[in-house]
Amino acid sequence: EIYLDNCATTKVCIDAANACMKVMTEQYGNPSSLHKKGVEAENIVTAARKTAASILNCDPDCIIFTSGATESNNLAILGGISARKRDGKTIVTSSVEHASVEHAAAYLEKQGYTVKRVEPKPGGNFDEADFINAVDEDTVLLTFMMVNNELGTVLPYEKIIRALRQKFPKLLIHLDAVQGFTKFPLNVRKIDADLISFSGHKLYAPKGIGGLYVKKGVRIEPIIYGGSQERSLRSGTQAVPLIAAFDEALKLCRDEGEKFAETYRFCNDYLRKAFQKMPEVVINSPANASPHVLNISVPGVPSEIMLHFLEQHDIFVSSGSACSKGAKSVVLKAYGLPEDRVKSALRLSFSKDTAKEQLDGFLDVLEQGIRRFKAVIR
Ligand code: PMP
Repeated sequence: EIYLDNCATTKVCIDAANACMKVMTEQYGNPSSLHKKGVEAENIVTAARKTAASILNCDPDCIIFTSGATESNNLAILGGISARKRDGKTIVTSSVEHASVEHAAAYLEKQGYTVKRVEPKPGGNFDEADFINAVDEDTVLLTFMMVNNELGTVLPYEKIIRALRQKFPKLLIHLDAVQGFTKFPLNVRKIDADLISFSGHKLYAPKGIGGLYVKKGVRIEPIIYGGSQERSLRSGTQAVPLIAAFDEALKLCRDEGEKFAETYRFCNDYLRKAFQKMPEVVINSPANASPHVLNISVPGVPSEIMLHFLEQHDIFVSSGSACSKGAKSVVLKAYGLPEDRVKSALRLSFSKDTAKEQLDGFLDVLEQGIRRFKAVIR
């Protein structure tokens, strides 16, 4: 089995799985209970909060655990807007956001907000000036991603945030850091965002756990009401087993991040070199994209056909984002990719364990697929 779909989700690392099991079967208290069993569970949540805070270089109180980045993004956007009803009516975002940002923004658009969607330049990169110029006195929220999940493009978030923080001190700034978290440094003392979303299952923790960083003094309204857990911003008994697992995965990525980055870089370089010798393959990801993602097209061969051919050989890739199942990628279209490349796009994404032999195995079957479907290639 060759799994090259790590942007969709990753295999849980062993320490995370063990931690989860231990909490489920031994340390199973409710963190809100007053007895020893509750305190034990509370300590697990506190420890994970500290680990997440150590990655962002913030106070642990700034971390809110959620069910994942979809919830974090909704809380940031809907909760942020809700607390600023009189501050303005414009939201600035990009045209390549994940559905959890785009659909939340589209919902607010229906409620009467103006949503400006900044577009990338041909080639896939963004110009920070386009974001800076899109924001004006009426803008209440800037919400955008750190690293794109389909092409791996790294947005110029540091420059955008620095410039806009200075120009509009009251602007609420939200960064969807899912694909960049622990892969690129994200020190909130340097990158002064108000809200930062991150997710566990993209970094070797289980699905169903994520977090939102909320800067000290920044007020947002909850979107879920109940028992006032997580500083009342996210009511509901915390998912302690998943939080314990998240803690282990975060520590692993924090401490071994450089080694993992070398692996992603190796995989990326290795495949780019191999594709140079395959004239049927076009590379969609810009050269400066995050190395854990490599988006390619085999023009003429629809994504699904190649995806299922690879699947027959136990090789797993993605046609776009896992969240737009089956649909043609609106994001790749927004990136200005020609129709035949959008239709035939394949996203390859690597994990800390992806090895050269697996890449060779993938290349071998991809070549077989190209030979098999060559008749339909222009
Ligand atoms: N934002 C981005 C950029 C993503 O890639 C994803 C996951 N595909 C999400 C948000 C949603 O994360 P989750 O699956 O944790 O809800």
